Amino acid sequence: MNTRIEEILDRATLDEQISLLAGANFWETVAIERLNVPVMRVTDGPVGARGTRFDGEASVCVPCGTLLGATWDRALMAEVGELLGNETLAKGATALLAPTVNLHRTPVGGRNFECISEDPYLTAQIAVGYINGLQAQGVASCIKHFVGNDTEFERMTIDSQIDERTLRELYLVPFEAAVAEAGVLAVMTGYNRINGPFCADSALVTDVLRGEWGFDGLVMSDWFGMHSTVASANAGVDLEMPGPTRYRGQMLTDAVQQGQVSEAQIRSLARSVLTLMQRTGALDAAGPGAETTRDNVADRLLVRRAGSAGMVLLRNQPSPAGQPTLPIATDRLRTVAIVGPNATIGQIMGGGSAHVTPTHTVHPLEALRARFVAAGVQVVHSAGCAIHRRTPEINLQLCDEMRVDFFVDPDDLDRADATPVSSGVTGTTRVIWATDPVGLNNGDPTFGVRFSTNFTADVSGLWTFGIESIGPAQLSIDGQILIDNAAVAAGGSFFGMGRGEALGTLELERGRTYSFVTEMRHRPIGTGLSGINIGAVAPVIGDPFADAVDMAATADLTIVVVGTNDDWESEGWDRADLDLPGAQDKLVAAVAQVCPSTVVVVNAGSPVAMPWVEQVDAVLMAWFPGQEFGDSLADVLFGDVQPQGRLPVTMPRQLQDTPAFEHTPGRNGVARYLEGRLMGYRWYDTTGRQPLFPFGFGLGYAAATVTAVTVTDPWTMQVDVSNDDQRDAIEVVQVYAHQVDRTGLDADEPDQRLVGFAKVNVAVGTTSAVEIRLDPHAYRAWDTTNRCWRQATGAFELRVGRSSRDIDIRVTVVLAAAGNDIAQPSGEVLP
Ligand code: BGC
Repeated sequence: MNTRIEEILDRATLDEQISLLAGANFWETVAIERLNVPVMRVTDGPVGARGTRFDGEASVCVPCGTLLGATWDRALMAEVGELLGNETLAKGATALLAPTVNLHRTPVGGRNFECISEDPYLTAQIAVGYINGLQAQGVASCIKHFVGNDTEFERMTIDSQIDERTLRELYLVPFEAAVAEAGVLAVMTGYNRINGPFCADSALVTDVLRGEWGFDGLVMSDWFGMHSTVASANAGVDLEMPGPTRYRGQMLTDAVQQGQVSEAQIRSLARSVLTLMQRTGALDAAGPGAETTRDNVADRLLVRRAGSAGMVLLRNQPSPAGQPTLPIATDRLRTVAIVGPNATIGQIMGGGSAHVTPTHTVHPLEALRARFVAAGVQVVHSAGCAIHRRTPEINLQLCDEMRVDFFVDPDDLDRADATPVSSGVTGTTRVIWATDPVGLNNGDPTFGVRFSTNFTADVSGLWTFGIESIGPAQLSIDGQILIDNAAVAAGGSFFGMGRGEALGTLELERGRTYSFVTEMRHRPIGTGLSGINIGAVAPVIGDPFADAVDMAATADLTIVVVGTNDDWESEGWDRADLDLPGAQDKLVAAVAQVCPSTVVVVNAGSPVAMPWVEQVDAVLMAWFPGQEFGDSLADVLFGDVQPQGRLPVTMPRQLQDTPAFEHTPGRNGVARYLEGRLMGYRWYDTTGRQPLFPFGFGLGYAAATVTAVTVTDPWTMQVDVSNDDQRDAIEVVQVYAHQVDRTGLDADEPDQRLVGFAKVNVAVGTTSAVEIRLDPHAYRAWDTTNRCWRQATGAFELRVGRSSRDIDIRVTVVLAAAGNDIAQPSGEVLP
């Protein structure tokens, strides 16, 4: 018991205690001035710390979750976590809503980019490193989303039905490790239901998270993910977010008076809130600090290094000169074509609540061009095709400043003499307001907003404009209404709360200036959230596809930067398939036909189909690499950095091959996880399917192999890794466990599971020795009948190699019959 907190609780009235159990606004808790309890601020996560405004102060943007997973590097994660801890503090917050550790059940999950891997152990290890770094700065990590929030389909209501063994052995593992190994300070419940109740009402919080794992930190709901007063309080969900409350306050007081929730339970929930405040220093602060931007060379270099560390080289064929295509040797090049829609504007992060405003961005074309030009190589560029699904943000370079005027009353937009309550200039026309943008009302605002500018067309022809918004909006050009979305139904944008995109087209003349006005009338929708996206697409001039192919035909080397963007990979929706959007597959195939050397860079947060893979010379999976994208990429392509990323997910050949294909997205409000424990590589390996590239795979510019393994006990091995290649290597040694005697095992028992790994530097011509400590839970199995963990017994083959399919050495360990005594492992090692 902490006396200071107990004293506050003793002095607080029931209502005061209850006031602590829901946010005051979108990001902050309620203060109790009488008791000197200040406000605590939290912020998103996971690639930066955004602060209280979606369009607020810039934040350093680190690589996405899948790239972090691809580093297989716990130490690097701690560095990234530290950086994010500092970012969080710079936004006056003391908790970062991160990391996201839901698993890649299907490769098309909309938030896969934010999550880490299909493997629970790898996810857990990366998350533990990240949390350790973050929390070392005195900032709380709020790991999310507990649990079964693995796709975006009907995400606010879907019931994820997961059998207990699968839940225990897969989906809960990262959360369990975060509690046990990293002492994570906060947990966010998922939007979904889990085996019936909503996550925020689930007994998993009470029984497993708090009971079994002994978690004594804070549990908060996802934003608008609380659905009850009594059940959530009794489940032990401490904090309803955001505020103001929808289920607590007076409703909770009434529930206490009616005996549905005990006063002791209220005290316990309030204690969790105060404890988190105390643990992060928020209780002693005068309230959240100012929101500022940090930007320094060391952080930029770290993001650049992390970005390149997670890029995965999937293919690297010899060039016509006999050398591998990569790294790029500029001495043989005269002209290089850099084509593809993601070359000029690379995608540095995915969409949704994970979005931050980066402090700056280095795009692929600019970084690569600088390197080539410095080496005397000519660079030509064409995008080749476009990949937007919604109209991209209007190009502000074609506008005079974009003025924004806010009015307290939406009807003021119709009054010529109305004075705006606030005005400013915006640098973006994709805006979400989580807090009241007018600054007058609290909670759910009512307001009108007008964006106005003069727009000078740079191309003549038919332009397309688009509006997505929460409140009804109109876009007018030269006083004529071009778009009015009042009749468009909600559900298509802004996390499902906004209207689908409304489009309008107009012939514009190059060089002519048009007055451009967009107005939105926002009335409360019950969430406090509001927002608008204003987009414009210029008419396509000429034939960019043919230009790109022509350029490739005369170039010595073509780098094609393909991928997705946040129209495709975002919170709020899943992808429909694995295909690269637009004409990208055709573009790659056409380029490969005409250019002697084609390198494809895939800029996507999760797997994509690669029907052209055999036709190209090299493929680099770059993920969403954060704000230093271009430099991270150049470092790998030019060989300053050894490619060292390994796939944290299986690359499937086609969606039909993937484990949950027949059971996703769900039906009648239910997602049944009928593939059970056969997720990711466990499915491919057990059913004998061939992936495009297996889990754990990745090439370097030099290859090392595992040449000796000595097992000291079933949890520890010494591994020798030798490098007979031409240059230094970095290898990720991976250990998979395969249970030898398969009799009596459940049908979804995987052929093998990742149980250990280590990243090793091996200088050319040498052997490095590394000790690998396996997962302490490597041999435990959930006993469904007795509902407890048991240590598996009998022989296990430990497969040591460089991917789930490249095994160099196999050793066998035998685990003694130890019943369910998992605390004291014992075993014998067979030669
Ligand atoms: C997301 C959470 C996020 C929260 C606050 C929700 O939509 O699911 O991951 O932390 O919003 O932005």
